[in-house]
Amino acid sequence: MAVKIDKKIKGYSVVSAEDRSKAAKADAVAREAADAAAQPGTNVIQMHEKIERPETLVGSTYKLKTPLFEHALYVTINDIVLNAGSEHEQRRPFEIFINSKNMDHFQWIVALTRIMSAVFRKGGDVTFLVDEMKAVFDPKGGYFKAGGVYMPSLVAELGSIVEDHLKAIGLLHDPEMSAEQRALIAEKRAAYAALDSKKNSDVGADLFAEPKVRDTPRSEDVEVTGDGASFPPSATMCHKCSTKAVVIMDGCATCLNCGYSKCG
Ligand SMILES: [Zn+2]
Repeated sequence: MAVKIDKKIKGYSVVSAEDRSKAAKADAVAREAADAAAQPGTNVIQMHEKIERPETLVGSTYKLKTPLFEHALYVTINDIVLNAGSEHEQRRPFEIFINSKNMDHFQWIVALTRIMSAVFRKGGDVTFLVDEMKAVFDPKGGYFKAGGVYMPSLVAELGSIVEDHLKAIGLLHDPEMSAEQRALIAEKRAAYAALDSKKNSDVGADLFAEPKVRDTPRSEDVEVTGDGASFPPSATMCHKCSTKAVVIMDGCATCLNCGYSKCG
């Protein structure tokens, strides 16, 4: 392409390959932006930090009782509903608060929740918080929740509450358990119940019945798990699902929660 130069030439440089690729990239970005603007549905609101807090938010409060503190912690996560009433309606976490009578370590808890709220409001994928928090280990050792699930720290338990919440609002999904796997676990539970009833005729069939209501749910021989199944008090920790649900069946360590077996 010929270009007529009217002004005096004061200097020149040769266009390098790098310059050319930069220009091409800028072009591509501009084109993408134009495409996005032209597409219908670009008025879908995504979470970003400029979104103002509405007067009211919907949310849930989770009670968290750990053996670490005398008093329970109450974890509140409030959500914002974006694009309400449209097909792009989405509920996203907006803020998190923790309340307790127990004021030990409270400055750290407040700091953590403020930073988490800031991450929620930034938008994008916030589910990484769950993995980060669940990977925090207390150097003093963790504790067992009701149901025999091992919690490596209080932070990890907060992470699992956030996980439950994100599942409840549809931002996280459980990995699908295959029908075969479910059948396998049911079979192992039934086999164990049969074994047990031979040994001890007064428990037996009731072994995996509805969770029993207890006055002291945090006693050592916990029997209640999240999904309502109960495991034998003598069960040991499963390293695959962190639940005290491993029993010895036919000389082989077998998890009655996730079906893991040492003998395959
Ligand atoms: Zn397991």
